[in-house]
Amino acid sequence: MHRQRVLSGVQPTGKIHLGNYVGALSLWADNQYRYDSFFCVVDLHALTIPEAVDPTRLRVKTRETAALYIAAGVDPARSVVFVQSAVTAHAELAWILNCVSPLGWLERMTQYKTKAARQESVSIGLLDYPVLQAADILLYQADLVPVGEDQRQHIELTRDIAGRFHRIFGPAFTLPAPLIRSSGARIMGLDDPTAKMSKSIGEVKPGHAIGLTDSPDEIRRVIMRAATDSGADLRFDTAGPGVLNLLTIYEVLSGEPREKVEAEFEGRGYGHLKRVVTDRVIATLEPVQQRYRELMADPATLEALLADGTDRARPIADATLTTVKRLTGLG
Ligand code: ATP
Ligand code: MG
Repeated sequence: MHRQRVLSGVQPTGKIHLGNYVGALSLWADNQYRYDSFFCVVDLHALTIPEAVDPTRLRVKTRETAALYIAAGVDPARSVVFVQSAVTAHAELAWILNCVSPLGWLERMTQYKTKAARQESVSIGLLDYPVLQAADILLYQADLVPVGEDQRQHIELTRDIAGRFHRIFGPAFTLPAPLIRSSGARIMGLDDPTAKMSKSIGEVKPGHAIGLTDSPDEIRRVIMRAATDSGADLRFDTAGPGVLNLLTIYEVLSGEPREKVEAEFEGRGYGHLKRVVTDRVIATLEPVQQRYRELMADPATLEALLADGTDRARPIADATLTTVKRLTGLG
């Protein structure tokens, strides 16, 4: 039977946080034995963020991000873990897709509009980010893309770009669908539950995010200070956004059904909720941090794992690129 294929990635920028873990990394690890899985560290995407333009730092962040994938449970013997820029087909396909992607489609992307508003000078790369992402996904003929809710629009765009390529040049790609958690796909900032927890904000605003490598003391401080509404509503349907965020984090990390979570907190105050969530987050991250430290202490092994991932990824990407070049008349 054909195993469905999965591809996803995280940018090696900023502070990788609990939202990335809940929305993406844990979902990858949970599904890797069911699907043929590819996880890349998208370092070419990182260049779209001006703060990331620091060669030494980018190289370090790329290694750290790969180590976090594995520490979060991705098994490199089973899943293919690699660095995007090591497989040159990503940049090549992105160029070809650029030439079939209407500018208006990209200008409409919510993430582009939000990020562009925060930057003084906007690069073509920031606008083009979703086309490179489409290349990542389409190169591997991925059926499913496990991501957080914020990426849904980019997966739809990927399908649209593939469809347009097919109409112009003929069939080349599998049309991918997003694989998104029904709960926990959009973890909110702890300082401001109206904004999604984000790496770029977490880097500059203390209290916004829980980093996957934060110490228990830091985690405790951030959660105990998390913004909650006044009142004492602790039910999923009616709680304010700050409390709902904490309930959701607990629900996903504990794996308990909602009724059980609500029963656990019923009649207790927000202080109790925060203490229990803190303990749960610390207990979840403890083994992740332990594995992460071991991986970072042995750079040669990590390098070898990534080199192996590149060797497994490249032939698949190259096969798609060969088809695309044949269809378009290149080479
Ligand atoms: P940036 O602010 O730099 O865009 P980010 O936090 O959005 O950082 P990405 O590298 O863009 O991180 O995304 C990596 C993965 O994590 C994607 O699948 C994305 O959907 C998911 N993700 C990001 N933020 C959240 C969140 N707050 N809740 C759930 N999933 C998230
Ligand atoms: Mg993002």
